[in-house]
Amino acid sequence: TPIVEVDHLSKRYGSGTFALNDVSLNINEGEILALLGPNGAGKTTLISTICGLVSPSSGTVRVGGHDIRKDWRAARRLIGLVPQEIALEPFEKVIDCVRFTRGLYGEAPDDAYLEEVLRSLALWDKRDARTRELSGGMKRRVLIAKALSHRPKVLFLDEPTAGVDVALRREMWLVVDELRKRGVTIILTTHYLEEAEEMADRIGVINKGQLMLVKPTAELMGEFGKKQ
Ligand code: ADP
Ligand code: ADP
Repeated sequence: TPIVEVDHLSKRYGSGTFALNDVSLNINEGEILALLGPNGAGKTTLISTICGLVSPSSGTVRVGGHDIRKDWRAARRLIGLVPQEIALEPFEKVIDCVRFTRGLYGEAPDDAYLEEVLRSLALWDKRDARTRELSGGMKRRVLIAKALSHRPKVLFLDEPTAGVDVALRREMWLVVDELRKRGVTIILTTHYLEEAEEMADRIGVINKGQLMLVKPTAELMGEFGKKQ
């Protein structure tokens, strides 16, 4: 069964237009799905609703079989989220920062897992550095390490390459590729087709709150007349 099940999800903020309009979608374990769409399409709303941070106007979300509204605690444990706007504590050491987040989930410390996460993100050598000493790319990787700290089953990355230069975008693609090899399930948002193509197994195109289509990357790129 899919790890994430989104069923007829709609969201209207106040009396405005629908930010999400009847979205249904399943995500399988080990899969990397990119939600592709222009600014204002509803990508952040979709991710925030799946993670239980925004309440839907109608529809349901299940994560690992747990209803995100009715069984929030159980569902939330399975989710790691890297939101768009998030800051690190500048004077905190990398390793403490990740430990702290794990603690927020009430998980017992697990230094072996912590090391594994930091190594997989090429941060092990920087574990005792203060976050303010890190480069932009490293900071982003620390945010991912924090999101992975409680060993979630699904990782959400909201615009992981927003506002970064080309070199950093490529670095992020490599990070995602490394996580893929480790079997992490990832849902990310982007407004670059090239980026979705590079990272994802499947691409969902979202526009004006509607999920226009969801297709395997190779199939979708074939339709654009490119070789995959
Ligand atoms: P994207 O992530 O694709 O840029 P968003 O999910 O942020 O899209 O936004 C979808 C639509 O919902 C936009 O029209 C946006 O203005 C609106 N919206 C997003 N968040 C809020 C909010 N908190 N209150 C009111 N409208 C919102
Ligand atoms: P969650 O994954 O549940 O969203 P966060 O780690 O994003 O948790 O942060 C929850 C709260 O703890 C926020 O108020 C944030 O400012 C604070 N916080 C997060 N990480 C640290 C840290 N390393 N040191 C101190 N405070 C932190």
